[in-house]
Amino acid sequence: MLRVTVLGSGSRGNAILIDGTDGAVLVDAGFGRRSLVRRLKAVQRQPEEISALLLTHEHTDHASGAAAASAHWGWPMYGSAGTIDALGFGGGTDVSSPDVRLFAAGRPTSIGGFLVETTPVPHDARDCRALVVTDVRSGARAGIAMDVGHVPDTLPVAFERLDLLVVESNHDEAMLARGPYPWSLKERIRGGLGHLSNGAAAAFVSACAHRGLRGVLLTHLSETNNLPSLAIERTREALRRAGWTRDALSAASQQLPLPPMTSEAR
Ligand SMILES: [Zn+2]
Ligand SMILES: [Zn+2]
Repeated sequence: MLRVTVLGSGSRGNAILIDGTDGAVLVDAGFGRRSLVRRLKAVQRQPEEISALLLTHEHTDHASGAAAASAHWGWPMYGSAGTIDALGFGGGTDVSSPDVRLFAAGRPTSIGGFLVETTPVPHDARDCRALVVTDVRSGARAGIAMDVGHVPDTLPVAFERLDLLVVESNHDEAMLARGPYPWSLKERIRGGLGHLSNGAAAAFVSACAHRGLRGVLLTHLSETNNLPSLAIERTREALRRAGWTRDALSAASQQLPLPPMTSEAR
């Protein structure tokens, strides 16, 4: 079994708890330690239950709390070489540093009871990765694509036959265009190295839809240029056209954890 709990998601911080048959890992730590503890407590969990931290990329909303949390709770911290280097852990071994490890190149990385596969995704970070986390015992798979400028051809292939899908649905195209951001920031967000729009997320999600897909979580919604109702409606419509009609689609918020989504049939 696999269970995904978004502890919070948006431009002010991201963290996703993944539970498998034999343990739990955290994807991204864009919150401080106190905020992480509070969010875990809200879903009746504690940091000691987590066995490793996996990073998608080095941006502060994904990694600002990573080093402190890893060092404090003894979590090995995994990332791509580019991510680890950008965070300043590239050279040498410092005893006060967290236990830093690299995702294996070209093959899955074994982490606790999970196998983790990564795929490079276009984003204005050093080497941003989408992750597929497989629970070894059950074979259940969760795909996580957070901060993706545009969907490369490799991503739908890597995300085939997922049980759970987590993908950013950052902005409504019209709200961003009409909104208050300066032109240069709008161009960065909607550019090929920025973030997925609701339309792009909906197209990607429907491309990943299949009978075995149990649930879809939309993340990284802009608080300025999006509304949960718009993001959900766009993806729901695309999924309906793809023939996927389960009632298991939700959008994450910045403030509060979402109820867990599980790979088990309900
Ligand atoms: Zn980013
Ligand atoms: Zn981000």
